[in-house]
Amino acid sequence: MTNPFSLDHALALDAADPLPTQRDRFLIPRHGDGEQAYFVGNSLGLQPRDARHHVEEVLDTWARLAVEGHFTGESQWMTYHALVRTQLGRLVGARPDEVVAMNTLTVNLHLMMVSFYRPTAERPAILIEAGAFPSDRHAVVSQIRFHGFDPETDLIELGPDEANGTISMAAIERAIEQHGHRLALVLWPGVQYRTGQAFDLQAIAQLTHARGITCGFDLAHAVGNLELSLHDSGADFAVWCHYKYLNSGPGAVAGCFVHERHASNPDLPRFAGWWGHEPSTRFLMGPDFVPSHGAEGWQLSNPPILGIAPLRASLELFDGVGMGALRAKSLRLTGYLESLIRERLSDTLHIVTPAEPERRGCQLSLRVIGGRDRGRALFDYLAGNGVLGDWREPDVIRISPAPLYNTHADILRFARTVEAWRDAT
Ligand SMILES: *Cc1c(COP(=O)(O)O)cnc(C)c1O
Repeated sequence: MTNPFSLDHALALDAADPLPTQRDRFLIPRHGDGEQAYFVGNSLGLQPRDARHHVEEVLDTWARLAVEGHFTGESQWMTYHALVRTQLGRLVGARPDEVVAMNTLTVNLHLMMVSFYRPTAERPAILIEAGAFPSDRHAVVSQIRFHGFDPETDLIELGPDEANGTISMAAIERAIEQHGHRLALVLWPGVQYRTGQAFDLQAIAQLTHARGITCGFDLAHAVGNLELSLHDSGADFAVWCHYKYLNSGPGAVAGCFVHERHASNPDLPRFAGWWGHEPSTRFLMGPDFVPSHGAEGWQLSNPPILGIAPLRASLELFDGVGMGALRAKSLRLTGYLESLIRERLSDTLHIVTPAEPERRGCQLSLRVIGGRDRGRALFDYLAGNGVLGDWREPDVIRISPAPLYNTHADILRFARTVEAWRDAT
């Protein structure tokens, strides 16, 4: 056995990995004469080389054809959003008509709550996890107020019951049991952004539905990270963004799932716009709204084509490799990161993320032992050496090896840089 802390070992693992890296299909940010070890795909994924091609195609079409670009060629703008539908559906385990690329995450969350958060005097409440991403909390609080209810009593935030600030399935079950009679909606993350904990979405949807509660998921940190089976999970809706693991660029057009059973339910309230209108009669420009079948019926505006273009490049990559193979590689990469930390850095870094692979995605959240100042110093030292993670107050560094472009060698570089800092301080 070679020393797992040696570069030879890391390079051998990369060479022998059943899934060769797709790193050369991305633009890797530079550091000095070399490349960064970039572990921030959970925040902004790297640019696929083909993204430029898809964006330039749109610009060219606009230049050459102007308005005719709506109706000309395979990637005509009239149906452009549908170009990603099949691949996006495969990626999240949904039928093509259950998904749509539109808007941005928080906008989609609001649109979904318009349809699926239907509070009554008896059942006004929403259950989320304590410490949820602020935008999600702002969205649910404002929705509760919008309906005339009081977030003080009607927003239920489930706190952690496990030592590292994670939440057990038993606690979720108890919360749904205890508050079920008052709950209108359970909104749960696929992967919690701060702790990196992954949840059993199917189990949560089942518990929720058994109590007559609607169930929605925020998959911002799960899509492109875990294998998802959204259709089979039975969730009513899900939302996610495409700029994190989906590598589609800053502020990229986001994603939305509506379960098939709601595909053409006329009783659901929704905020409508002309792009959600049934396409065959949309351009008759009649006064009455007839929704498209499925998730596309929730579209409002004609989509920002330039914002969808990079998503095509990314989905081609994901679809070419397959989420199963990517997740398998992700387990190897994150397992290697975990083993290096446990063996050599446990005096410096404490792993917050659950140890069971099925309870996490690629990200490990690492509490720096010794507090905030020490944590910041380590974080700055890493960045200064071309190793990029991200910082979460007060003392956590998140490291997210993305299986499309991160390597065992990147991970070793992280661990050795931490070690060098520790040994020098
Ligand atoms: C990244 C993220 C967001 C960001 O919302 P935008 O509308 O895309 O700005 C919201 N919620 C969660 C859970 C996230 O991880």
